[in-house]
Amino acid sequence: MSMRRRMIPAALRLPCAVATAILLLSACTAEEPGRSGVSKARRVTRDLHSFSRPDQIRVTHAVLDWTVDFDARQVRGSLTWNVKRAPDVEGEPLVLDTKGLTIESVVSGTGRPLTFELGTTDDLLGTPLLIAMDPGDDEVTIVYHTGPQASALQWLTPEQTAGRKHPFVYSYGSAIGARTFWPCQDSPAVRFTYEAELTVPSDLTAVMAAEMLPGGRAGTRFRFRMPQPIPSYLVAFAVGDLRFRELGPRTGVYAEPPVLDAAAFEFADAEAMLETAERLYGPYRWDRYDVLVMPPSFPIFGMENPRLTFVHPATVAGDRSLIFVLAHELAHSWSGNLVNQATWSDLWLNEGVTVYIERRILESLYGRAFADMEAVKWHQVLMQDLATLDDGFTALRNVMRARRLRRSRAATRAHPKSREGSGRLRSGSRRCVHCPTTFRRHGSRSSTPRGHSRTPVIPRSCSSGSRCAFGAAIAVPTMRSGLS
Ligand SMILES: [Zn+2]
Repeated sequence: MSMRRRMIPAALRLPCAVATAILLLSACTAEEPGRSGVSKARRVTRDLHSFSRPDQIRVTHAVLDWTVDFDARQVRGSLTWNVKRAPDVEGEPLVLDTKGLTIESVVSGTGRPLTFELGTTDDLLGTPLLIAMDPGDDEVTIVYHTGPQASALQWLTPEQTAGRKHPFVYSYGSAIGARTFWPCQDSPAVRFTYEAELTVPSDLTAVMAAEMLPGGRAGTRFRFRMPQPIPSYLVAFAVGDLRFRELGPRTGVYAEPPVLDAAAFEFADAEAMLETAERLYGPYRWDRYDVLVMPPSFPIFGMENPRLTFVHPATVAGDRSLIFVLAHELAHSWSGNLVNQATWSDLWLNEGVTVYIERRILESLYGRAFADMEAVKWHQVLMQDLATLDDGFTALRNVMRARRLRRSRAATRAHPKSREGSGRLRSGSRRCVHCPTTFRRHGSRSSTPRGHSRTPVIPRSCSSGSRCAFGAAIAVPTMRSGLS
């Protein structure tokens, strides 16, 4: 997912609180102690943000049959899980995560009612659903419906959409939200395949982060399948007045009709980006890469749902200047969707590696200078965000300050007169952020020379310098020419 804020409206900055939450989640991880005589390799790392016990009984395949009810603002229907039991486990229940769900019935694969119980509710984690299964049971069907506070479901009125004629709903399961719209083992370590049928109002279209089956639309029913195993937070759907435009042999874009033309222009190079990523990191394993442009209330820049990236409409900037979002979400097709962290406490691993891959894609498309500029820009944002954290993050702040100091000294050695040599600047001096030029302050206002800048913007031209403070040539193409 992409939650960067500097180039997005203030209304979108809430996700930074989510990023902080990720750091907080990262503060707690537990490894269950290995029993005496049990090898280290068999120790179980528990995900503290899931009640499930996949080390005992693990879900492997789901069959979803959902009705999306806009009037009731509810998803209701059934869910069948295939499960696999650890060989040395007997008498343990299947444990699923739920939050605010109403469980109507639970039966075995043969239709036999099964005993189930909802455990103690935790305000953050929700409520565990414990289902008693006989040793021979490998299938369980749950009939249920969502509650009014399902945080992973966003129900929009027509006025909240681009077209302003039809309602819209979408799911957003990351990080621990999937449990609010279906009972699952809501831990990134648990991967499974699934099939789904969605029943929606007749004038709306359903899409999922999955393959729509040939002839998958039958009246108001849509059929999908996800043959590649994924964790629960990557199960995603949206229902609204949507149209599709093909961009390339494996790429396309969904959007509301008023946005479709602009979206098709903005993401026209998705196929080229996909081919670039394949050259760097190997074959794309998800068959298709489509983009869904969300209504304005979508809370983050992008979400890497497999096969169908969800993006904020602000990414349709008209000049492809926010194409880095697509590079980031595409990068997740390798880092995060193919290989991911085992617990929610380590979500930073997923995002950290993805940012690296994103930069390599951008570097390949636009050149080293552009990738370096992105790195500098977002490093500054990171430092600003760190400054807002409380004393619990002092150590992290110190690490980042020390790293910045090392880079500054290295830059000074490379360019003795550069802006990075803070100790060499005279009091009151200012530095261009793109080249070694320094200039003096006059009174309360700086006399920034023409062609230089003190703010971290992309330097389309820098009149005096051909090399930036990090030694890279400044030759940044415009986004449009760089991608077309
Ligand atoms: Zn991400």
